[in-house]
Amino acid sequence: MNDRYTELYAAVKRQKKNPVRNYLRDVALTALSSLANKDHLLKPRVQFLYFHHTFGDEEKNLVTLLQQLTMQHTFISYSEGVQRVLTGNIDRPYIVFSSDDGFRNNIRAGEILKDFGISACFFINPGITGEKDYEKIKRHCADTLQFPTVAFLDWDDVHALQKMGHEMGSQTMMHMNIAQTPAELVRADIAQSSDLLKARCGEALHFAFPYGRFYHFSREGRKAVYDSGFVSCASAERGCHIPTGSVIAPEQLCIRRDHIVLGWNLNHIMYFIINNARKATGANNEYPTGLR
Ligand SMILES: [Zn+2]
Repeated sequence: MNDRYTELYAAVKRQKKNPVRNYLRDVALTALSSLANKDHLLKPRVQFLYFHHTFGDEEKNLVTLLQQLTMQHTFISYSEGVQRVLTGNIDRPYIVFSSDDGFRNNIRAGEILKDFGISACFFINPGITGEKDYEKIKRHCADTLQFPTVAFLDWDDVHALQKMGHEMGSQTMMHMNIAQTPAELVRADIAQSSDLLKARCGEALHFAFPYGRFYHFSREGRKAVYDSGFVSCASAERGCHIPTGSVIAPEQLCIRRDHIVLGWNLNHIMYFIINNARKATGANNEYPTGLR
């Protein structure tokens, strides 16, 4: 049964389109990362990082990444990261980890992070959590996530992650494209995901909007997030947060998160982080004024 699920990042890579473009991107990133000045990493800031998967052939890279980051950074929980950005209490370089989509191999990430004393936030879609119907899973992966077929966490896994000290967040019931869904359905869905997380996990504090670019979100979606009781809302737009000298209202904060693939060349991941630190501005806290 299990072999119908993708178990290795190498297998994901083989299925990727545009091998030439990917190769050129790799070469360019290698050149850029060799020039990046690591001193920027010492800047006080909160850098949120998120990943989707920790396949068997990515576990070692996660360990090495954590060993590298720990040289300049303090790892804090998602809730602490949000609080520090809201209050401007950012006195040194901080890293916050989260993960999206609720793949089953998040369990391994959870264990490795725990070994380093790190609490992460796992954003799940409660509508697919615990799903065992292979055809349904295959469709969700292909049509909604544009990803090879992988197994999802079930509720026992979710509770195991909580026991390790991790937080659980919502990413809508079934990974909805909020910008393309009528407002009433968005409201009902976000409220349902909050109720379900509260019932299953005891709390529902954090929300990340699916797909994560600004054009995937809406003003009404943002309102629904806070009306449903969530205290934070995250994008997948690159950037980090620096203190601005003023306190931010929770509804005004749009958390930036950098997407990392643990199977990537670690120098490339470090390049993105260094670049964010170098370019950080207070404007990173806000939503674009053009949000529909
Ligand atoms: Zn996602």
